[in-house]
Amino acid sequence: MALLEVRDLKTHFRTDDGIVKAVDGVSFSIEKGQTLGIVGESGSGKSVTCLTIMGLNPKRNTISSGEAIFKGENLLAMSSSRLRDIRGNDIAMIFQDPMTSLNPVHRIGAQLVEAIQLHRDVTKRQARARALELLNAVGIPRAERRIDDYPHQFSGGMRQRVMIAMALVNDPDLLIADEPTTALDVTTQAQILTLMTDLQKDFGSAIIIITHDLGVIAEVADDVVVMYAAKVAEHAPVDNLFKRPHHPYTWGLLGSLPRLDADVERLVQIRGQPPSLLNPPRGCRFHPRCPYVMGICKTVEPELLPAGDEADHVQACHLDVATKDREAAKVLAGTMAEAS
Ligand code: SF4
Repeated sequence: MALLEVRDLKTHFRTDDGIVKAVDGVSFSIEKGQTLGIVGESGSGKSVTCLTIMGLNPKRNTISSGEAIFKGENLLAMSSSRLRDIRGNDIAMIFQDPMTSLNPVHRIGAQLVEAIQLHRDVTKRQARARALELLNAVGIPRAERRIDDYPHQFSGGMRQRVMIAMALVNDPDLLIADEPTTALDVTTQAQILTLMTDLQKDFGSAIIIITHDLGVIAEVADDVVVMYAAKVAEHAPVDNLFKRPHHPYTWGLLGSLPRLDADVERLVQIRGQPPSLLNPPRGCRFHPRCPYVMGICKTVEPELLPAGDEADHVQACHLDVATKDREAAKVLAGTMAEAS
């Protein structure tokens, strides 16, 4: 049984202008010890998907449906107190900006001790020993001295390490990391990603990593969900996605990755903007931006179906497999015509 199975998840927000369908029928699962990447542009619904699973959307004006079965229990149907319990013990979240999650007026150690004592029946001394252990585990140099520093005394990368330590206080089964490295420079980003994969081996947690960057996915994920306009465009094991991508939106994302191995570094932009989720386009939601658009794309919504003979690789696009293979090969060779 999967650790988490999300089925037909929908999250709609009531606004003055109408209903915003921020997540519209998303399904995926994650096994123990696995890393799932969710990738897409800003507003694609990737963060709202995870906030819904965690029960962190504002109650007022939010309409959610579907299921998120975590260790046999539906997170979407349980009481607030049970969900709080699970959030503290079994599922933890790491956000992009640690300063929004760390209290600036309290010392790092005190915040870790408080988080530990909130969920474990341990003395302050024991909690402090555990806090120190965690700070060492996430690679804070001279942790025994730095444990009494305030958040502002840490660099951005070190603060993110503290946040990871905070997320690990209760050995969660599932860690959800929302753009955990976006605010960091490239070197620190690489260090944090390595740290997360190392800790995953030590702690055995499953990780859902949300990002707009396929480069991050390539570094850490086993499986990847590509989201576009509140829906899943493609879902595949990470190797398949990079070797045989099947969706034009994924090609756009791949094409915009810097190609250091190509003669000329290409940055292919996906033309246009993502659609409004108040009134998304009929048919395929990507059709106003898609260089391969056909008549059917404007009226019939493509189903999420296996791509060719690969049962674990699904995509929602009307193109035939031969065209997909041919165009994907061009993208991978760095020769795709710019989608403009
Ligand atoms: Fe493009 Fe049509 Fe495929 Fe949508 S269904 S991605 S518009 S080719």
